[in-house]
Amino acid sequence: MTSRKSGLRALVAGGAGFLGNHLCERLLAEGERVICLDNLQTGGLDNLRRFARDSRFEFIEADVCDPLPASLRADRVYNLACPASPPLYQADPVHTMMTSVVGTRNLLDVAQLSGGRFVQASTSEVYGDPEEHPQRESYRGSVNPIGIRACYDEGKRAGEALCFDYLRSFDVDVRVARIFNTYGPRMRPDDGRIVSNLIVQALAGDALTIYGGGEQTRSFCYVDDLVDGLIRLMRVDPNPKAPVNLGNPEEYTINALAELVLDLTQSRSQVVYQPLPQDDPQCRRPDIARAAEVLGWRPRVPVRQGLAATIAWFDAGIARPWRETAPSDSALAAAAGGVA
Ligand code: NAD
Ligand code: UDP
Repeated sequence: MTSRKSGLRALVAGGAGFLGNHLCERLLAEGERVICLDNLQTGGLDNLRRFARDSRFEFIEADVCDPLPASLRADRVYNLACPASPPLYQADPVHTMMTSVVGTRNLLDVAQLSGGRFVQASTSEVYGDPEEHPQRESYRGSVNPIGIRACYDEGKRAGEALCFDYLRSFDVDVRVARIFNTYGPRMRPDDGRIVSNLIVQALAGDALTIYGGGEQTRSFCYVDDLVDGLIRLMRVDPNPKAPVNLGNPEEYTINALAELVLDLTQSRSQVVYQPLPQDDPQCRRPDIARAAEVLGWRPRVPVRQGLAATIAWFDAGIARPWRETAPSDSALAAAAGGVA
């Protein structure tokens, strides 16, 4: 599955974001050249500093909704460009929808002109508030097309439609990953998603915010596992020609996740309950049988271990006023069980 010294040229749209910069790092480590294209809307240059001295890395600041440089070519196109956090994708909903539709089309055109492969970062949100549990790829979903999440959910559904039309109409080698909630180091502390919110709040000694009763569930995948799945999907032969769920089936209620974060951080934070946002899905767990069969993929990092590594990363950058000394590096490494 590796391509060490392959010299392939990968375009990572959204490469300055959370998943994207981990993906850039892995591709560079495996010998690919990487062009990161990003408008820095939710990603940051901080995420790219680690690549500054690597001559195989190039950054293009651009919005995928705008016409892309005519000379842009790539053997592999990964489309991760789109905010993933509900408050952030809802902040400019029209732009979110255009990013998934116009942006995806512009990137599909790059793949077509290049004769390259294309991986679309789609989402479990295409299943909406699911009536089937766990969710298989055959499930067509239950999305409110006019709600506040529609800009993201329906945008991603349209993005998938475009991908399969480019496959059928133009024979572009398109692959679609349906990504379930993913977490890990380098999430934005302020991006508003559950894992980053709980960790930041617990480390700061602030109240943990739980929306609704906290009995809704999500399934949490560690970033390294997810990136491994994306790369396998890009490299697998033959093209599965069908969407593939990528996620960790370890399912938690939000209340249970909060308990786990409190336990791992040893925080004395309280929990406060706040109103549940509109259309918030009640449950989410991937059926990963297809990923196992087609990609030989399954997640390897248990949630407890991945959370410990994520907490260690956040802990290095956030003050803990309720605690006089930070835990030693070796204590955190032991808690993380070697995942870094
Ligand atoms: P993120 O917000 O950290 O990263 C998204 C990146 O895309 C950012 O760097 C942002 O600046 C860039 N971007 C956004 N709109 C753009 C545009 N119009 N043009 C150019 N760049 C643009 O999010 P993430 O968690 O890294 O998610 C990456 C991808 O994976 C997204 O497509 C998201 O929908 C998908 N996904 C993520 C998760 C998850 O749990 N992290 C789950 C399902 C799907
Ligand atoms: N959530 C919460 N408190 C927070 C942030 C989120 O209770 O501070 C809930 C949210 O309502 C949802 C779940 O946690 O039920 C996951 O939210 P997230 O924004 O991480 O992802 P998504 O809803 O897109 O799966």
